[in-house]
Amino acid sequence: MVARARIRGAHTTRRTLLAFYRRLRQAHGHAGWWPGATPFEVCLGAILTQNTAWSNVEKALAELERRGLLSFEPLAALSAEQIAPLIRSAGYFNVKARRLKAFLDFLGREYGGRVEPMRAAEPAALRRQLLAVNGIGRETADSIALYAADKPLFVVDAYTRRIASRLGWIRGDEDYDEIQGWFTARLPRDVELYNDYHAQIVLLGKSVCRPRPRCAVCLLLRVCPRRGVRADGRVPGRARLDRAKRPA
Ligand code: SF4
Repeated sequence: MVARARIRGAHTTRRTLLAFYRRLRQAHGHAGWWPGATPFEVCLGAILTQNTAWSNVEKALAELERRGLLSFEPLAALSAEQIAPLIRSAGYFNVKARRLKAFLDFLGREYGGRVEPMRAAEPAALRRQLLAVNGIGRETADSIALYAADKPLFVVDAYTRRIASRLGWIRGDEDYDEIQGWFTARLPRDVELYNDYHAQIVLLGKSVCRPRPRCAVCLLLRVCPRRGVRADGRVPGRARLDRAKRPA
């Protein structure tokens, strides 16, 4: 049997990861995540944002708010069939309505319909509970646990995978838990740090380190081993980028 290659970046240190974070935070400021007026709204947003842009989620949340449904009791009183048309703008609305309903059932059963009591749960136990809810995967579970329940669970998403692999920290094809473990083995176990760290990665991934990256204006140009990478993963000659204006 061929041994699975080890995750890259074994020698990447806490110092490197914190320097990366500080650089982004300096540029973007604190992201103030997660967007959502209440922990309950954060949970709904984490489920609705699966496979869709946040702007679509905002429309669905606005529709729920307009109808007075952004709290547990009125929303839990609806069936999945009743919820579905209200969240149409978030895409996959029938599936997401069933997922919301499953989450609401869980929240009512385990926590009396309130998110705040989740904060008393042990992080790993809360994660297991959330993963047992139909339609809640690891990224959604960790997003809810971190952003709604203040649990130190590092969120891994497509932006994390892309940026960390371009920086040479990981290969990019590792399992979710392996990447999460890689970060948590190096970063201080700090809710506030995990919260903003993930947010900063998303900001960079949306604005600059896109599938077709804008390396010439990237804060990490000087240190990134994949600067100039193309959308197809190839890295052409770097002379032009090396001459590009670099951050001070
Ligand atoms: S230099 Fe390019 S590939 Fe590297 S992190 Fe920045 S945008 Fe991404």
